[in-house]
Parts: sequence; structure tokens; C-alpha cells
Amino acid sequence: ATPTALLVGTGRGAQLGVLIKGPQVLESTRGIDTVVLDKTGTVTTGRMQLVDVRTAEGTDRAEALRVAGAVEHASEHPIARAISTAAEQETGELPPVADFTNLEGLGVQGVVDGRSVLAGRSALLSRWGLHLDGELAEAKAEAEAKGRTAIVLAWDGAARAVLVAADTVKPTSQQAISQLRDLGLTPVLLTGDNAAAADAVAAQVGIDEVIAEVMPADKVDVVKRLQGEGKAVAMVGDGVNDAAALAQADLGLSMGTGTDIAIEAGDLTLVRGDLRAAVDAIRLSRRTLTTIR
Ligand code: ADP
Ligand code: MG
Repeated sequence: ATPTALLVGTGRGAQLGVLIKGPQVLESTRGIDTVVLDKTGTVTTGRMQLVDVRTAEGTDRAEALRVAGAVEHASEHPIARAISTAAEQETGELPPVADFTNLEGLGVQGVVDGRSVLAGRSALLSRWGLHLDGELAEAKAEAEAKGRTAIVLAWDGAARAVLVAADTVKPTSQQAISQLRDLGLTPVLLTGDNAAAADAVAAQVGIDEVIAEVMPADKVDVVKRLQGEGKAVAMVGDGVNDAAALAQADLGLSMGTGTDIAIEAGDLTLVRGDLRAAVDAIRLSRRTLTTIR
């Protein structure tokens, strides 16, 4: 795709809040039958809030929050932003983190106050030969049943806390998805988040097909697999982790509110980050093509 966005479709694209990277893009929307939607930042606002901190026996809540905030401080992930913001508000200036590593699609690790810290998906604990049990396992299950994301915090060889983050569905997502169905398209929700949180969001917006717990590098394979089944796939996403899938899809739609890498990878940008603009774009291209032919 060309890096410079062109407005086509008799200027209607601009009015609809859609930037299209060239006339050839319209051609590719024609046969689309499946729309793969990233969850966080696409169907949901992606503005995560820390809503609960549950600690293991013997761990102080403020201490857990401070350590988690410090290790997440260096990450750009919406979950990381929510945790470090809440930690700063509640506990003041955060200690520095050393040896920071971003574990894409999993979480983060680093050294805070001489402690070796992990924060992220519970699967991370297996790196230390640990697994979540007791009260913390219950806290995680409870959070996920509500469609929230549980972040496990561990340091020095033990799980210390579960931090619960919540995201909200964009007010326009449900309407957009029902309009996609009206156009005869099948929506599929794709996310790296846990299956319970994904199912809760899917139920809210009316999506039946959910593909969850997909690692960032594997999102592109999901698109390839659907294409291998003979489907013509549109992908809608906002994150760095969506870029390869956006490029692979027959039509890549990126959120204008998302990362530059995703915007570069897409064929079409939804300027306001409103999913209804995706529906408008598909309708517009169908109409424009009918006029040309
Ligand atoms: P999505 O596909 O919904 O955009 P990601 O692939 O970015 O999600 O992340 C998948 C999961 O990995 C998150 O739901 C979270 O559990 C975990 N995760 C990723 N980054 C972080 C982080 N910085 N801190 C804590 N957990 C994280
Ligand atoms: Mg996302």
C-alpha cells in the first residue's frame, strides 16, 4: 500500500471519516465475507482501568501496587498504563526498574528494589515453575468471569497478587456489528486476551465466533487459515500486534486512534476509531463499484 492516504469514492470517504490508500482498495472490499476484529482498542475503547488488587497472604496491597506500577512503567500497553497510573496516584513516585523486558502478548519483567518481578498472563508463572492457586486463582477466575483481565504479579519466586483491569466496549460497536451482519458479513473476534474476557465482550456486541489467547505473532496465521478455508477476510485492528494480520488480510482496516505501525499496514483508516465507519466504507465501495461498472 502507498504511504500517503488518498481520498476516493467521490469525496464521501472523507465525510464518513475514512481514509483510503488508493482506488485499488475498493476492488478488494468487493468479495469480503468475513470480518476479523481485534478486541482491545478496536471493539473496546482500550482505555483500561485498574479496578481491583487482590494480594496473597503476607503481601501488602500498596507494596504490590508500587512494584507492579514500577515494572509496568516502561511499557506502552494499555494494561501497563492503567497499572502504573493507579500506582502513582496511590503510592506516589515509583521506584526505577532495571533489566526491563517487554514480553510481547504476555506481560513484562524487570528488577524493582532488588526484586526480580514478573507481571502479566498467569502462563508467565510457569517460567518460574509456579502456578496460581488458592485465593489468587479464585480472584483470577472471578475477574475473568466478569469479562475483566487478571494480571498476575510475582516476585522472587512467588505469586504475590492479582491485579484486575477492566476495559469498556465502545458505545457504537454493537450497532456496527449488527450492520456488518446486515451486509451479509460474518464477524470474528480475535484477541490475545483470555477466552472468558473475550467471550464476555463478544456476547455484549453480538459476535458468535471468538478466537482468544492468540499470541501477537500468530494473529497473521489466523487470517491465513481463514483465507485457506476460502474466505475473503477483512481485518480491523489498532495495535502493533495487529500489523502483520492487517497486511495479510484481503482488506486491512486500521483504527485512526491506533498505533502508526497499524495505520501503515492497513489499506484503509477509520479516522475516528468508530467501527461504524468500517460498515460505511464497505457500503461506499460497493456503491462506487456499482457506479463504475
Ligand atoms: P489484544 O490482542 O487484546 O490487543 P495483547 O496481545 O496486547 O492483547 O495482550 C494479550 C494479553 O497479554 C493481555 O490480555 C494481558 O493479559 C497480557 N499482557 C500483555 N502485555 C501486558 C503488560 N504490559 N502487562 C500485563 N499483562 C500484559
Ligand atoms: Mg488491540
